[in-house]
Amino acid sequence: MPLAREAVELLVQAARAWYFEGNRHGLRDREWMALRFLGRANRFSRTPSALAGFIGATRATASQIVKTLESKSFLVRKPSHEDKRSVVLHVTSQGEKCLSQHDPINHVVNAVTSLGTEECIRLRDSLREILNHLDAAHQRLEASICRDCMFLAERGPATSKGRGTAEFMCRLYRAPISLDETELLCTSFERTRDRPKIEQHLDRDRMASQG
Ligand code: SF4
Repeated sequence: MPLAREAVELLVQAARAWYFEGNRHGLRDREWMALRFLGRANRFSRTPSALAGFIGATRATASQIVKTLESKSFLVRKPSHEDKRSVVLHVTSQGEKCLSQHDPINHVVNAVTSLGTEECIRLRDSLREILNHLDAAHQRLEASICRDCMFLAERGPATSKGRGTAEFMCRLYRAPISLDETELLCTSFERTRDRPKIEQHLDRDRMASQG
């Protein structure tokens, strides 16, 4: 069997590991997907319409999912700071606890973690490279992390010393972005072709902390 096909088949098998019928810990697959996304999304993407786009559902379906998550106290709506007519969805501490204890993808995350930092970085980079090829074939991503986005501009130093106070700017929303926010998901993301500088600092820190 060609090596590439074998690798893709393994990828498909790995992906099957987090699909399930019915519900787990009281949530169906799409509800888990929504809670997971909202737990990782930045302030521009924690809206009902961004959620609908991410999970590939209608606004009505997304709104039903939000109601279910609210009824379980995993989610609350708050008025947006930027636009008082809009709402922002916030995952509660109960929702975060549920994600950390019961998210069906946790066992896959644990399996990847067991590879070790260096192998994890290699796997991430290979998957990113694959996504770049798929992007080129017009397979648009629903969301990805801010630090890989072409709209992210560096405003302050991102040296390992000054990292805590480094500032960034989103050129699309014309808004400041903190270093922590560069790790969050955004549905307005557009992939940059250059390897992000911030990532090199983070990877260096990860390798150093591994010893
Ligand atoms: S830089 Fe890109 S990913 Fe980050 S907030 Fe702006 S549009 Fe979203």
